[in-house]
Amino acid sequence: MNQASLMRHIWKTSSNAESCWVGFVSSRWLRHHSIWSLPRPSTCSATWKAILDTQPVALRCSWVLLHDGHKTLLWHDPWLDGGLLSQLGLLLAPAVGRDFFAPVCSILQRLPCPATDPAMFSRWPEICASRTFTRLQEDTMVWTTTPSDRFSIQSAWNAIHSSQLEVPWHQLIWAASNHPRFSFIAWLATREALTLRTRAANWGITTERASYLCNQGDETFDHLFFRCSYTRAIWQALLKLCSYNCAPLDSWQGELGWVSAHFIGITLVDRIKKFCFCATIYRIWAEHNSCAFQNVAHHFTAVVSFVVEDTRGKFFIHDQATPDTPSSRAFLERWCISSSFTLATGTPHAWLVSH
Ligand SMILES: [Zn+2]
Repeated sequence: MNQASLMRHIWKTSSNAESCWVGFVSSRWLRHHSIWSLPRPSTCSATWKAILDTQPVALRCSWVLLHDGHKTLLWHDPWLDGGLLSQLGLLLAPAVGRDFFAPVCSILQRLPCPATDPAMFSRWPEICASRTFTRLQEDTMVWTTTPSDRFSIQSAWNAIHSSQLEVPWHQLIWAASNHPRFSFIAWLATREALTLRTRAANWGITTERASYLCNQGDETFDHLFFRCSYTRAIWQALLKLCSYNCAPLDSWQGELGWVSAHFIGITLVDRIKKFCFCATIYRIWAEHNSCAFQNVAHHFTAVVSFVVEDTRGKFFIHDQATPDTPSSRAFLERWCISSSFTLATGTPHAWLVSH
């Protein structure tokens, strides 16, 4: 519980709470940093070090709702679904055209010009899909794991505790052959941390709650993954390609549990299935954003094709031989992915001589 109470200080600082402590920290440590970019100082009190140790978990629970982007740091604050824009080792210096303290508004004002910065270019679709909320007074930090969007000790404790346990979907989401971008969005989905319409309605920034993809039913996680007629058709088609002739379950956590229990192992077939799952979540979320922010919708078969292309592209060249079984040959044939085969390991048999 102690770590959870220390995390409260990260929340107070990041949300600019009015307190003497926040004032002191801001003037002492944050004149040349944000709370999210501050490295652990070599000389500081043990308490301050312990507070900063909670920063990675606190970051996973924090998100900025943009009003105009004036008070949010472009590189360091969590305003994008896919995490911070600054990557480890990325040089943030004026000499390479990057301003360490640039606010988000500096990039929003340049939209829709194409980005010339490669670091930004790789996140450009996400940047373009980011929303500003005019109903807010200013950029607002929210705590994503409580219904009130405010910090609570209990939610902080849960976040710390869950980060220390290996969750059942860990190998599914973080498999080495998965695309990092797909894994990240799938991970946000497992934590139900994507901003759906029902959530935005709870925040009071919209009155609409209906699913963007089918316009029927409230947009909840159970609906998006995969109760919605649109996403259900996508996942059912891909399940079939993965050799499962069944319909998705009605609850997101139930389906996640089922996939985690069935998409296991490290053979080529297993890796393709895991990749396909994360690509599906990513592509559905991209389609959701396309409908929401660009008003462009695709037929569900187009999303299935995107996932198939992603997966084929990933495994077009690989050096893993596949155990030669009729089921793995049929699987790879369906996906049009070529592979070399190894003979399946034989099992010893003995003939019984009848007397
Ligand atoms: Zn729907």
